[in-house]
Amino acid sequence: MKLVYCPDCQDLVRLFREDRRCKCGQSGGHYEPNGRDAVLWGQAIPFGLDNFELGRALQRRPEAGLGRAVSFFIIPRQSPRISYQEQDSNWYWERYQRTGLYEDMTTWLKHKAWESWGISLEGKVGRYAKK
Ligand SMILES: [Zn+2]
Repeated sequence: MKLVYCPDCQDLVRLFREDRRCKCGQSGGHYEPNGRDAVLWGQAIPFGLDNFELGRALQRRPEAGLGRAVSFFIIPRQSPRISYQEQDSNWYWERYQRTGLYEDMTTWLKHKAWESWGISLEGKVGRYAKK
């Protein structure tokens, strides 16, 4: 399964079809309908967890001592299964409501202006996806 890690709040959340976001709300994502590809936003860093090893470790959970190790790996910056999306102005508005930061307000206003000018946000990518 895929998870996303947020470098700001160090939260780690599992992806589902519905949007998930980290504790601070800066990073998140969801699975595409095919259940394999994922769309992320913000500073989300994708991780993979070996489902088979997880199942085996759960089955063989010891009463005491050391538990069984489960492999957990960071997904490379370039992955055909991961894409990044720019958020619309509502998302920036919600972030500004959460943080109350001046810089989040100006970011929200900028995105709102781009939308009202009809500037397409397609093709913009998150900073971790830049080549
Ligand atoms: Zn966060």
